[in-house]
Amino acid sequence: MKKTGRRSSNIDDRRGGASSLVVGGGGLGALLLAAAVTMLTGNPGPISDQVAAPPTQSPAQQQQTSPTEDELANFISVVLADTEDTWGQIFQEEFGQPYPEPTLVLFSGSTQSACGLGQAAMGPFYCPADQKVYIDLSFYNDLKTRHQAPGDFAQAYVVAHEVGHHVQNVLGISSQVRQLQSGASEVESNRLSVRLELQADCFAGVWANRADQARDILESGDIEEALNAASQIGDDHLQQQSRGFVVPESFTHGSSAQRMRWFNQGLATGDIEQCDTFAANQI
Ligand SMILES: [Zn+2]
Repeated sequence: MKKTGRRSSNIDDRRGGASSLVVGGGGLGALLLAAAVTMLTGNPGPISDQVAAPPTQSPAQQQQTSPTEDELANFISVVLADTEDTWGQIFQEEFGQPYPEPTLVLFSGSTQSACGLGQAAMGPFYCPADQKVYIDLSFYNDLKTRHQAPGDFAQAYVVAHEVGHHVQNVLGISSQVRQLQSGASEVESNRLSVRLELQADCFAGVWANRADQARDILESGDIEEALNAASQIGDDHLQQQSRGFVVPESFTHGSSAQRMRWFNQGLATGDIEQCDTFAANQI
């Protein structure tokens, strides 16, 4: 992906222990929406994208930021800015509303969130209560080495997927899902989680489509990198790797094929109307 775009001002860089002040924010609409969601459902928990138990991290690794990580942080900031431009345009077109931009928190080891203590072991996650995406950059090492999903567009896909959860939150989709889940069996609840995750994948695809049309961001091999990442972190693939067998009823994020299919659906159409994973009979 081209890395020449503007950088987002909504990055809260908490790496190396120092917490910097965040610039920008979601505005009044976002606050009102967040309040409404909280009133309806109580304090919502994080939407976690853990992709298997990571190795324990020694405290020494958390002391300083490396040049490689700084470069990665810079790239994430460019990707986030592009999602802001893209979703800003979609919200204007579809809803005639400004897009309440999320904050992206970069941390190392652990950090506080409105959804409780965020830890590297949780993988990237989105907290609806504070409308922030949390990413520990060590996750990208895991993605590259343990999950064999290298490439800058694999990294961009992860950001776009988490931003997809933010879009679901501000549109009220995630709170509806939480309500449905509160009275449901575990199997049914997992099914709803899968549909929520696949929709976030589809939204990531919509971003890639729109951003490429507007700014020509895609380079050769990018789509393959994203599809490979979506495939590598499919529930069936992860379960096969860690347990040696697959239990579809316990899926919470969708199979490799489903994740690739819904990312592709968003990518091919660039249309959020085509991302209704809840209406689809067959996902
Ligand atoms: Zn997710």
